[in-house]
Amino acid sequence: MSYVVNPPAPVSIPVAGKAERFPVRRIYCVGRNYEEHAKEMGFTGREPPFFFMKPADAIVVVNAGETGTIPYPSLTQNLHHEIELVVAIGAGGKNIAAADAHKHIYGYAVGLDMTRRDLQNEMKKQGRPWCIGKAFDQSAPIGPITPAAQAGDVNNAEIYLQVNGTDRQRSTVAKLIWNIGETIEHLSTAWELQPGDLIFTGTPEGVAAVVRGDTMLGSVGGLGELRVKVA
Ligand code: MN
Repeated sequence: MSYVVNPPAPVSIPVAGKAERFPVRRIYCVGRNYEEHAKEMGFTGREPPFFFMKPADAIVVVNAGETGTIPYPSLTQNLHHEIELVVAIGAGGKNIAAADAHKHIYGYAVGLDMTRRDLQNEMKKQGRPWCIGKAFDQSAPIGPITPAAQAGDVNNAEIYLQVNGTDRQRSTVAKLIWNIGETIEHLSTAWELQPGDLIFTGTPEGVAAVVRGDTMLGSVGGLGELRVKVA
């Protein structure tokens, strides 16, 4: 096969304890999936889950024990951190029942849904798509994927994010409005999931701005630490 321009390099994420990597197909993200975060965004209560996407090449892989770097992105004056549990899909399907969702999960990772909040808010106000606020280059730093069997009880895992050593976000995955199974159930009615898909499951309260020079340190349960510096 030859191409008229160079094809993009495939995006992949290391897997804890394995030489083989996880290839990324799509990145789905759940909006406002923790009640206290929904409130700080100006909403209340449980609403049906809704989704947005990031391009696969927004991924910034951070290897275990390393500090990743992202550039401060263009056009924003209000870059927010959102620490999230990420689900990696290993077996595809559509109309997956919540009770069967675990059969489709390869593993889990710690991710950051970086957000140009000022641009997202402007798009919300105008009823326009969120892409410019959410789906920009290098907006999805992520650590290695831990296979489900070694990930422990992610549904009840502590989730936190510190900036320069100070707590910003701290909660538990148990507070998800739509849990992992329910999220996969809803998502798979709208799209047919495929191996390689990632789901950013939402962020707890405490989202706030980072500036150049800040270092973010986040974790979810036993999935390891994700450390990212804003350059
Ligand atoms: Mn998010």
